[in-house]
Amino acid sequence: MSGDATAHGLGRRDVLRMGAAGTAAAALAGALREAGALPVPPGPGDGRVRVYVLVLDGCRPEEFGGAEQPVVRGLEAQGTTYTDARSQPVFETIPNHVMMATGVRPDRSGVPANSVYDRAERVVRDLDRPSDLRATTVLEQVRALGHTSGTVLSKEYLYGIFRGRATYEWRPGPVVVPGADYSPDDQTMAEVSRMVREDDPDLLFVNLGDIDRIGHVDETGVLDVRAQRRAALANTDALVGAFVAQLQAEGKYASSVLLLLADHSMDFSVPTDLISVDAILTGRPDLRSSIAIAQNGGADLLYWVGPSGQRRKGLAEVRRLVLAAPGVLAVQTPGELRLGPEAGDLVATCRPGWRFSDPTVLSNPIPGNHGHPVTEPVPFLVTGGHPAVRRGATSATVARTLDVAPTVGAIFGVRAPRGGYDGQVRSEAFTTVPRAAPADR
Ligand SMILES: [Zn+2]
Repeated sequence: MSGDATAHGLGRRDVLRMGAAGTAAAALAGALREAGALPVPPGPGDGRVRVYVLVLDGCRPEEFGGAEQPVVRGLEAQGTTYTDARSQPVFETIPNHVMMATGVRPDRSGVPANSVYDRAERVVRDLDRPSDLRATTVLEQVRALGHTSGTVLSKEYLYGIFRGRATYEWRPGPVVVPGADYSPDDQTMAEVSRMVREDDPDLLFVNLGDIDRIGHVDETGVLDVRAQRRAALANTDALVGAFVAQLQAEGKYASSVLLLLADHSMDFSVPTDLISVDAILTGRPDLRSSIAIAQNGGADLLYWVGPSGQRRKGLAEVRRLVLAAPGVLAVQTPGELRLGPEAGDLVATCRPGWRFSDPTVLSNPIPGNHGHPVTEPVPFLVTGGHPAVRRGATSATVARTLDVAPTVGAIFGVRAPRGGYDGQVRSEAFTTVPRAAPADR
């Protein structure tokens, strides 16, 4: 389960030579030298541990630390890489960030997808309100112990659902990409830099949206999505390098644990491979008027809103018709996937290369999609300058987005939620899981 840096195919010198931007690479050189070849200096002596969770939204495992990401590859050599890491259903952004922050599945958090049909308000909407999240997050748990936490989340809906939880919060802006409701990584990382320098939170939770959003662009077909995506991978990588260099320059790296992972993967489809539950039910107006649909890219959540006396028979019929449609992979119940009542009555997922969309209004006109099982694999890396981080190792143990909160919680000594976590502490990534000294209160 453990290897060494050469197993990654490139030495430190190569990593540095390939460094994207000159300044970022040069600055990273010091960080890697400090963390690698030379003995790692002990922490600042106050028992402080700084934990940074960086989510590269929508990054595929094979892209992570790949040709465009020499900095990440260097960090892999200084940490523990999980080769079989997984997102959790529904493979979307909001539920997986919630699982990272809570360590519990959607049937306990109330957050199964990005978009749901709200039965009380009778409307399909994003789960972007603080009240949508019923579970406790590690962000407020570390606060309760006298430590500090921060959120720098590039997407407006993530800011929305986690609002009020962390000690320090940043709302995406002033640049918010129209229609995408997110801040570019340059701006997001500028705030990370400021918050680390000025507020210095013990725990920082960061979402970087560029890689995902580049996958979602190109409604016109004019842009070369794959070239754009390579550029986004390289730019985000350089920004991570600059972040590590800052930690080093400010004397924070030796006490730092970095978790780098993605919330879900990305699948690319062609515009003709669409699945419309609306169209599937066209010939059955009785059923169509009884079903509300919440689209989530590669997954559709279906809610029975018809007469309750016809519910059972009607849902069985809907299931049969949807399952028979081209491109549909499975139709399951929320219970089978532990999604809870907010996910409705049926969950339809598509095969690779397909997506759910309304063909008439092109409600989902994007080539990149996730939410369906092919987008389950994610990168997951534990690294950083803390001497307890296990270096140059790989682990085939299954790691999940659910494991972030238990792992962070173990470092800060927070108590597991009632009923325990659904995730696990990723102790393989450490010689001994570091324990932050109690905060002065
Ligand atoms: Zn995402």
